[in-house]
Amino acid sequence: MSTATPQTFEFQAEIKQLLDIVIHSLYTEKEIFVRELVSNASDALEKQRHLQVTEKAIYDDKLELEINITTDDKAKTFTIQDFGTGMTQAELVENLGTIAHSGSKAFVQALGEGDQKAAGLIGQFGVGFYSAFMVAKTVKVYTHSWRESEPGQLWTSDGTGNFAIEESSGERRGCKVVIELKDECSEFSQDWRIREIIERYSAFVSFPINLNGKRINTVQALWLRGKNEIKEEEYAEFYKFQCHDSEKPRLRLHFSADAPISINALLFVPKENAERLGLARLEPAVALYCRKILIDARPKDLLPEWLRFVRGVVDSEDLPLNISRETMQDRTLVEKLNRVITKRFLKFLEEEAKDRPESFAEFYKEFGVFLKEGAALDFTHKDALTKLLRFESSLTEKGKTTSLTDYVSRMGAEQKEIYYLVGPSRESIEAGPYLEGFRARNLEVLFCYEAVDEYVMNNVREFDGKKLTAADHADVRLSEQPRAEGALGEAETQALVAWLKESLGERVAGVRASERLVDSPALALNADKLMSPHMRRLMKAMNKDGPPSPLRVELEVNPRSAVIKRLSELRTAAPEKATLVAEQILDNALISAGLLDDASGMVKRLYKILESV
Ligand code: ADP
Ligand code: MG
Repeated sequence: MSTATPQTFEFQAEIKQLLDIVIHSLYTEKEIFVRELVSNASDALEKQRHLQVTEKAIYDDKLELEINITTDDKAKTFTIQDFGTGMTQAELVENLGTIAHSGSKAFVQALGEGDQKAAGLIGQFGVGFYSAFMVAKTVKVYTHSWRESEPGQLWTSDGTGNFAIEESSGERRGCKVVIELKDECSEFSQDWRIREIIERYSAFVSFPINLNGKRINTVQALWLRGKNEIKEEEYAEFYKFQCHDSEKPRLRLHFSADAPISINALLFVPKENAERLGLARLEPAVALYCRKILIDARPKDLLPEWLRFVRGVVDSEDLPLNISRETMQDRTLVEKLNRVITKRFLKFLEEEAKDRPESFAEFYKEFGVFLKEGAALDFTHKDALTKLLRFESSLTEKGKTTSLTDYVSRMGAEQKEIYYLVGPSRESIEAGPYLEGFRARNLEVLFCYEAVDEYVMNNVREFDGKKLTAADHADVRLSEQPRAEGALGEAETQALVAWLKESLGERVAGVRASERLVDSPALALNADKLMSPHMRRLMKAMNKDGPPSPLRVELEVNPRSAVIKRLSELRTAAPEKATLVAEQILDNALISAGLLDDASGMVKRLYKILESV
């Protein structure tokens, strides 16, 4: 169909260099040439759509804005045709002969800087149009510009230094790129292979893509549409398709931002936490797109670790399509995305907690562990995350929780610290002796039931300027209460304390009169700064046969308790019996604290005491 003799042009020097590498590359991800050509077709259609609004005289103006791909496994060809803007002869020379307009610029720049690695990264750079030469013996571009007065053109090259352009009559508007495949690349003339590639990289291109006459992209890039115009069913369908989940998502966040970087994001929290079910650790599942074209399905640094339960899509048109997985890691762009998305997601959770507390509580049950991980480890977002933490407390009902913010709002003026107790359940914490002193003074205590809680509390350390303090720690001092009627007097108490210290000897780090006890006779306080009773229990459970780690406890006795008053009498009346009772009181306190390592001695002693009753 050519009407004039072909004119030969030489590629610009940089392009020659680039082509040389492309042609000789053994790169295994050759398939990305499909992504590149589809994205060019889609760009041209997008431009055409705008032109149709502003221009009157348009060539071949009845054409659908669509992409048609055909494969021929006999002829070993791959053909992609779009009805976009097409190119004039001058545009062909400029766009397909120089580096000025090419997506491969970054790659060539890297080469120029002597980056030897760049050559190996060719597939990841995605060198734009020229990637076709990874698989092509020859590439032909049949094109007609949207401008009516321009003739059709045929651009031909085998990628070895020159290209030819000749006029060509009878062309439709747009571009038709015909690739004659290298023998070893004949897989790309197979329908199934191309379908697979398009489904992976180009599923959301907004123009119809037909492969051998069959439409293959049917799901829309919902994230680019306005929230108000999207129906629930569309979201549901999208989630199913993109996140491969048959259940409905638990939460959805759809947002866009322009500054400091353009972002359109559609994020989901699934119904269930797969890690909690004991399955493997979750991998990042928020895919990164640039204008609907997939860049990376599982980008590592797009979100902080603790957000690995989130799924969905982030699209930024500020990303070059050729951003590579390797280069992504030190890209300030990705860091920026990370910052913006994380902040937005935290704000979203805050709103959820405020506006839909019940749904948030359900979310928290399933995914709270990730928020705790973040609060403990992600210094940047620690404050926002700590605000989202929830605990039962001595003031909540069973099953209801409170935030640290609410806790602080209930604190009296004299209270300086936030108290918590770790234990396996509400019942066990309430039954223990530790709570009563706090209760008596109207001090709220948070209840922590999970193994990680203690670690989290230790790492978070403080909230709103107030220290997080374990209520069973020996350093905790509570205000004095007026001595109750009938309590041991000051002098007797001091004498008893001194005697106890002496008779219990090595078994205690200290003995003192308790200000915190109301009903219980005694309690054991952990004097070990590094290992709480709960942690000690965990260590013991993990290391069953090892020797128990040495105990350091302080014993507090309650001068108001009948048992202690009786002991004070016994001390002088029957010192031997008193010693037995003292030992027993210590063991009882250790049991309550979950710190008694061996109960056999205790049982014998108890019988001895019973004999004398
Ligand atoms: P990029 O897409 O990043 O600009 P490419 O190497 O992929 O780089 O393409 C180079 C240029 O060639 C494009 O900018 C565009 O001007 C032109 N081009 C490529 N494919 C088409 C097409 N199908 N229709 C119109 N113009 C095209
Ligand atoms: Mg391109």
